[in-house]
Parts: sequence; structure tokens; C-alpha cells
Amino acid sequence: MKLHFGNGLLKGMLVTIKQNLRHPTVTQYPEQRLNTSRRIRGQELVWNKTRCTGCATCAKACHQGAIQIVTATNTENNKYEVETYRVDTGYCIQCGICVEACPYDALFMGARYEKAKYRRAELVENKEQMADSLDRPVSGYFHPERAEKLPVQTLLVEKINEDRSKE
Ligand code: SF4
Ligand code: SF4
Repeated sequence: MKLHFGNGLLKGMLVTIKQNLRHPTVTQYPEQRLNTSRRIRGQELVWNKTRCTGCATCAKACHQGAIQIVTATNTENNKYEVETYRVDTGYCIQCGICVEACPYDALFMGARYEKAKYRRAELVENKEQMADSLDRPVSGYFHPERAEKLPVQTLLVEKINEDRSKE
């Protein structure tokens, strides 16, 4: 068999050039973003003050001891009131068990995931910070009725195939 010096090198270069001419297989985060899973367990919990009865089932279910609840009796209304609801997101591992345990659908996984902090103390969120609002999108985790209203997840592989079909 006759060997031609440099053939292998040429083949390698052709593969590299071809690869460089293809559309990139990554997104330019943070400018470009994919839709996350509808059931994402983001880095926060979202709490509904109106629905919460202060039963503390979520706190008992949390194996990380990340939830602290203090209730007081409101004698005028003859019901419990949640004085303190606090989650240490530094201990929270986003397992979602507290959300599943809540009997009153008052607790949800949040959909946000960019929650890095510079200081340890900032990881503790109080009830005002946890309260549901337009700024705190709720995930459909454990709540299929919410999940079906959220945008469909963008899979990177679909985006790549779409881009390559244009090549
Ligand atoms: S998601 Fe898991 S770790 Fe985080 S507060 Fe709920 S039960 Fe605890
Ligand atoms: S389990 Fe639900 S209702 Fe009970 S304290 Fe937790 S969030 Fe409130």
C-alpha cells in the first residue's frame, strides 16, 4: 500500500474546517435563552399568603430544616396567622418535597435560577421576598394545571437540527 505523506493531516484539517463552518451548538447565554422545563425546580420557593394556613406541614417535610414558620393566634378572626415564614435557600436543595407536602396549594417551586448571592445572609428569604408576584414566575412542578399553561421547553437538540437544516 502506497502511503502519501500529509493525507491524514489534510483529512483532519477538513474535519476542523467543516466543523467551524457549522452553526454553533450552544446558545450565547445570557443574551440567548432557551425555555426551561415547565416543571423546573428553580432556586426559590414561591409562597401564597392567602392560601397558607400556617399548618407547618412544609417545614416538617423539609429534611434540610430550611423552612422556619412562626404562627400566632389572631383572636379577632379566631385563626392562625403566619408571623414568620422564612426559607434558607442556602440549605434548600430544591427537592420540591415541601411543595408536594403542602395540603393547601400554597407553596410552589419558582422558575428562576439566577439567584447567586455575594453574602450568606442574603440567601435567607422572608415571607415578603417569597410572596408570589409577577416578578416570581411559578414552575409547573407538582402542579400540572399550571404546567400546561407555560411555554414548551426548548430543547437544544431541536434548535441545532433547525439551524443545520438551513445549511
Ligand atoms: S425544596 Fe426541599 S430542601 Fe428546599 S425547602 Fe422544600 S423540602 Fe426543603
Ligand atoms: S404546608 Fe402549605 S399551608 Fe401549611 S404552612 Fe406550609 S405553605 Fe402554609
